[in-house]
Amino acid sequence: MTSTPLPDTQAASTATPVDPAAPATTGRATSPLVTAHSQLASAVSVLGYDEGQHRMLATPRREIHVAVPLRRDDGETVLFHGFRVQHNITRGPGKGGLRYAPGVDIDEVRALAMWMTWKCAIVDLPYGGAKGGIAIDPRGYSTAELERVTRRYTSEIMPMIGPDTDIMAPDMGTDEQTMAWVMDTYSVNRGYTIPAVVTGKPLAMGGSRGRGTATSAGIVHVTAAALGEAGVPLHDVTVAVQGFGKVGSHAAAIFAARGATVVAVSDQYGGVRNDAGLEMDRLFSHVAATGSVVGFDGGDPLSNDELLALEVDVLVPAAVEGVLDGDTASTVRARWVVEGANGPTTTEGDRVLAAKGVTVVPDVLANAGGVVVSYFEWVQANQTYWWSEQEIADKLEHRMTSSFGDVSALAKQEGLSLRDAALVIGVQRTAEAHRIRGLYP
Ligand code: NAD
Repeated sequence: MTSTPLPDTQAASTATPVDPAAPATTGRATSPLVTAHSQLASAVSVLGYDEGQHRMLATPRREIHVAVPLRRDDGETVLFHGFRVQHNITRGPGKGGLRYAPGVDIDEVRALAMWMTWKCAIVDLPYGGAKGGIAIDPRGYSTAELERVTRRYTSEIMPMIGPDTDIMAPDMGTDEQTMAWVMDTYSVNRGYTIPAVVTGKPLAMGGSRGRGTATSAGIVHVTAAALGEAGVPLHDVTVAVQGFGKVGSHAAAIFAARGATVVAVSDQYGGVRNDAGLEMDRLFSHVAATGSVVGFDGGDPLSNDELLALEVDVLVPAAVEGVLDGDTASTVRARWVVEGANGPTTTEGDRVLAAKGVTVVPDVLANAGGVVVSYFEWVQANQTYWWSEQEIADKLEHRMTSSFGDVSALAKQEGLSLRDAALVIGVQRTAEAHRIRGLYP
């Protein structure tokens, strides 16, 4: 594992410790890595750690950058860039999703891997944090092409992954079929079936009941807990959800099933609004038929910016990073922002929301339900013993509400935002594991 040479690419540059204050290399206005480093710096200053500890926590342990060539169905060869980053593996194997999106770059993957480290520690799973991605727009490729891309990427990063070293799961642009291809490629090369190398697999080959909706169910559990602290029942609130993919769509449906009024949803093509509440069954049928929420006849059209600015109780950004920056955050009229996506709020966005009195339930807590049930899936796969749907739902609810309780108690005790409190818990647990294990040699 550690002997795997890093290719001579930008990934290799991390042989030198990352300066936590250094700007990221991505050309975006606000790189997710800048946001992730700024959040870590804030937690480190609360915890009073020195510069050496800060660098240990900021620097990914291992990174790989691979070329992923694809022979297209028409015979043409195209090339993609793929990445896998293990940000921290001190508390256990790396754990984190695999993203297929055109904008994927090494800094985005580093940020997402770092958030996975804190997230796993906050909900107290025996994992470190990792993430992977390929810079590809999956909508432009056939199923057979995506299978070839996935199998080639898996082969290229094979030395880094494994059921005891680094375990993948679906993220943006990937799904349970992608995980099945990763698992099959890994297993064929090892010579026997190894279901625990990925989570978020299809049920028919060792997936867990409840995994497909776990992130969304977790979002609703922490929202209910946050509302509960203000004495507001879930069935009294209005909700807007940005992103209608694996996370956002099920979150909207679960909110509605629990009595909340989901007044707006959107995807990358646009949104739809109905103040009386969107009819979920018909909306899901429309999306299944057309591939988008746009054009749904049970509401009126609205843009993503309009959705973020709606006067609702709860806003759930569940699409991409950086949507709530200083400008868009100033338009938010929701009382609670519950982050379904990873990194949807920039540091400036956070400041603006705090000044407006908006309570932000941070991503590393709010969307942790997915990795919690991924952990349950991994435990079940390792035991080859499968739990009932109810057992999983109960254990998930308990883990999410108790983690919210820990974060909220610390926030109140120390006068911190929920984000700072969550990060302090995650960073402290990780640093404690470093301290107990000691520095080798
Ligand atoms: P997905 O690919 O299934 O869905 C993404 C959705 O976002 C789609 O509806 C897409 O149209 C929409 N979208 C993309 N770009 C957009 C834009 N610029 N504006 C508005 N909408 C846009 O992805 P997913 O798995 O639902 O992941 C969504 C977010 O949740 C990501 O940040 C991901 O990292 C995070 N997350 C996912 C999981 C999981 O279990 N899948 C777990 C934790 C966190």
